[in-house]
Amino acid sequence: MTDGDAGLRDSFGRIHTYLRLSVTEACNYRCRYCGPGVVHRGLSDDQLVFLCSLFRSMGIRALRITGGEPTVRPGLIPLIARLSSLGFERLALTTNGTSLVRDARALKEAGIQSVNVSLDAVDADLYASLTGGFPVRPVLEGIAAALSEGLAVKLNCVLLADTYRNQVRQLMAFARKLGIPLRFIELMPFGDGARWEGVSTATLVAFLGEEYGEEASPRGPKGSEPWGSGPAEYRRFGGVDVGFIGALTSCFCSQCQRLRLTNEGQLKTCLYHPDRLDIRQLLERGSPPEEICRRIEAFVLRKQLRHAFQTGPVEWPLSSVGG
Ligand code: SAM
Repeated sequence: MTDGDAGLRDSFGRIHTYLRLSVTEACNYRCRYCGPGVVHRGLSDDQLVFLCSLFRSMGIRALRITGGEPTVRPGLIPLIARLSSLGFERLALTTNGTSLVRDARALKEAGIQSVNVSLDAVDADLYASLTGGFPVRPVLEGIAAALSEGLAVKLNCVLLADTYRNQVRQLMAFARKLGIPLRFIELMPFGDGARWEGVSTATLVAFLGEEYGEEASPRGPKGSEPWGSGPAEYRRFGGVDVGFIGALTSCFCSQCQRLRLTNEGQLKTCLYHPDRLDIRQLLERGSPPEEICRRIEAFVLRKQLRHAFQTGPVEWPLSSVGG
């Protein structure tokens, strides 16, 4: 068994303290590079809360709620309140931001501390063309609402090679105005993502350097807010803390401390590898909690050393595993 808050250890000594919980595969958006996930029968609220209590007892300290678009799950806020009562040190949400104007206060009251908002463009036409026709204004207003409720906000952006320069300039101006970190995620070859050309971290760093010049190192050490426990490497350009998630070009698997639970109850130790532990099946055949914990520990122990994106695309979209 694991030792309380020590986390779940794999055979390479990596300790897992962070769970990304997908609460739906459904999404209101149709992003160009992220096709819709097939929607399966999801876990119930009671099943999610029960499993999260087991993960908490096995040393998971940070929980991020994601999807699909998590805010389209009916009853998300009461579910978050129940998850919050389990005593995670950090409780966060990843969202496209469409419901933040309405929900920011309730999310905060339910226990969410920080929100990552996906924002690929500030320009209304480009945003609409990237997302399948959605207006950017409610998202920009939602970000402001989240900040005024005291939620920590980071922006996540995936760039495509043919549009990125103006996109980056406008995003930098927006992040600077609000004083929030802006993170660029390299496009990964999931689903429709494999059909597009992304922008590498190296290309982006060179572009930002030419446009703004690099400044002295950022404010805080990795691991403290707003840096979170994620894989982003932060640098500072033009008065903005810019995070780079070089998912393809700077493999950070050696420090990976993440697990993912899909909406249908499959545990994954890596975004890339297809290995899954079917926890829903264990639940539905009435396995006792001790057995579920043992199976989770054994599964984590078998985690692969690193992803293998370089060997080719993955057919499922990121939305189906909780991006
Ligand atoms: N709907 C929520 C959102 O918009 O943040 C959460 C799920 S979404 C799948 C999470 C993040 O994954 C988004 O920032 C999205 O841009 C990113 N994403 C989707 N497909 C991707 C891909 N092929 N490569 C890199 N990032 C991707």
